[in-house]
Amino acid sequence: PLLYLNGEFIPEDQARVSVMDRGFLFGDGVYEVIPAYAGLPFRLREHLDRLNNSLAAIRMTPPLDHEQWSQILHRLLQQRGSEDQQIYLQITRGAYGKRLHAIPEQVQPTLMAMASPINRRDPELVARGMSVITLEDIRWQRCDIKAITLLANILAQSQAREEGADEAILVRDGLANEGTASNLFMVKEGLVITPPKSTHLLPGITRDLVLELAMEDGIPYAEASISADELESADEIWITSSTKEVMPVTRLNGKPVANGLPGPMWERMDALYAACKERLRLRT
Ligand code: PLP
Repeated sequence: PLLYLNGEFIPEDQARVSVMDRGFLFGDGVYEVIPAYAGLPFRLREHLDRLNNSLAAIRMTPPLDHEQWSQILHRLLQQRGSEDQQIYLQITRGAYGKRLHAIPEQVQPTLMAMASPINRRDPELVARGMSVITLEDIRWQRCDIKAITLLANILAQSQAREEGADEAILVRDGLANEGTASNLFMVKEGLVITPPKSTHLLPGITRDLVLELAMEDGIPYAEASISADELESADEIWITSSTKEVMPVTRLNGKPVANGLPGPMWERMDALYAACKERLRLRT
C-alpha cells in the first residue's frame, strides 16, 4: 500500500524520513488516529479541528486545510475499498540542520498519513469487559495536546499489562482523568459522568460523541471530576476511544465493578454508537 509523505504517495516500505527530523530527535510533533467505516472517515471534521488545535498549541501553522486532508485521506482509503480502516496522521516540525531546542524559523514540517485495517474490538473482551488499574499520572501538564511524545503512556500501559490488566486509568491529585489511550466515563445512579475538558486529558472525539448521543437519547449526563475513590463505588465504568469505541470496564484494581458484568447503560450507549456508525455506512 501507498502512504502519504510530504505531498507524495509512496510505497510504505520505501518511505524515508531524515534522522534530523525533529519528530525523531525531540518528539516534536502531533498526530491523529481517524477511523473509517465503509471507506468513509468517521467524524473527520472533529479530528481535523483537533489536529489544528494541537498544531496551534505547539506553535505550528496548519500546513494543509481540511479539504486538502480530506482528499489525501480518501485516496489512501480507496486502496482497501470499503473495508473498515484507520488513518494514522502525523505532523512533525521537520528536519533542521542542527539539533537545537529552540524552534527554528525556517523549517518545513514533515507530513505523513497512512491507512491500515482497523484494530477491531475483540468481541470476547467486549462481552467480558475490560480490566483496569489506577496509576499515578506522571505525564506533563498539556495532555490536551495530541503530542507524539507518549513515553509515560507507554510505561503505564505496560505496567497495566504486567499486572494482568488491559488499561491504566491515570490519577492526578486524586482525580481519575483518562486512560493511557482512552477517555473515562462512570455511571452512578443513572447519571453518566465524564471529567470536564482540561489540560489533564485529551478532548476525545469519541468522548464528545458519547455525550452527544446521551443528549439525543435523553440519557442524563454530567461533566464532572471523578475521584479515584468514587470510581470504586461506580455502577458502571467505560473507556472510550476511536478504535475501542465504548468499552465496558468490569474490573478495577483486581475487584469487580458493581456485579462485574457490562452494565445496562453501557449496552444502551454501545447500541447508540453502533447506530451512529451505521448511519455513516448508509451514506455510501
Ligand atoms: N486519551 C488519550 C490519552 C488518547 O491517546 C486517546 C486516543 O487514543 C483518547 C483519550 C481517546 O480519543 P479519541 O476518542 O479521539 O480517539
